[in-house]
Amino acid sequence: MNGTLDTIVADIAREMAEATDRGKVADYIAPLAAVSDKRFGIAVVEASGAVHVAGDADVPFSIQSVSKVFGFTLALGMVGDALWKRVGREPSGSAFNSIVQLETEQGIPRNPFINAGAIVVSDILLGRHEPREAIGEILRFVRGLAGDESILIDEKVAHAEEQTGFRNMALAQYMRAFGNIHHAVERPLGVYFHQCALAMSCRQLAMAGRYLMCGGVNPETGRTIISKQRTRRINAVMMTCGHYDGSGEFAYRVGLSGKSGVGGGILAVAPGVASIAVWSPGLNARGNSQLGTLALERLVQRTGWSVFDPA
Ligand code: GLU
Repeated sequence: MNGTLDTIVADIAREMAEATDRGKVADYIAPLAAVSDKRFGIAVVEASGAVHVAGDADVPFSIQSVSKVFGFTLALGMVGDALWKRVGREPSGSAFNSIVQLETEQGIPRNPFINAGAIVVSDILLGRHEPREAIGEILRFVRGLAGDESILIDEKVAHAEEQTGFRNMALAQYMRAFGNIHHAVERPLGVYFHQCALAMSCRQLAMAGRYLMCGGVNPETGRTIISKQRTRRINAVMMTCGHYDGSGEFAYRVGLSGKSGVGGGILAVAPGVASIAVWSPGLNARGNSQLGTLALERLVQRTGWSVFDPA
């Protein structure tokens, strides 16, 4: 490693503060458009428990699609491999909200990390619950993972998505026509929009991701969240599908399992080594955080943490 982790993280935050090409903040969800593109935060939690933060690491932001990791983990725990009858695990190579593949693939989304896949996962989470209970379960789950009861859902963001999420509504209706949504579409969509509206800081997000670095165990409580084998597989799907049609590029540049969201957050995992969260709201053309990706690329160059680096 080149320098101590505290220095590396502080250096990266300073470099990102000076960056001029910051990407474009998402504006199709009104409250997200109001966030300054000057923001940058980073938090690294090591397997030892040591935490390193810099920049806006304690400022909550809308985690959006990063939440798909938590919904997916809960659903896998609930129904196990039966989940794979309703969702695939191949990269889509298309945009996060694309509908095109659903027609030829009979309403089975390519993977749980594109919108269509996450809406099916929300439908699974509903089970026999009311949407309010399923949303409460997701919130409790994330709070438990992060060890932080202060985490909230931003109702304004959830409401804005309910008002304007026409594409997501179309995806849900279309999958319902194929029999792959089992409830009236408002129900899984309500769960999905609220899950996306979780507001968390980089520190909280990196803490919540610890089970993915620790083989499925929450290191704080010693509780098994999900089996080691399933954890390995979640990390694999994050690597191959976590950045939509930019997943290959993320694997090439960063070489870690990662999940991005249009709020500009990315959760990345170096198994056995670190859980990392970065946030910068400006997005690249594929809808992934421009500086978040660059920051992770630099972190991995300086630490040698890519899963493709020799240990
Ligand atoms: N809630 C967003 C949507 O459904 C999530 C997209 C994302 O973060 O990539 O459009």
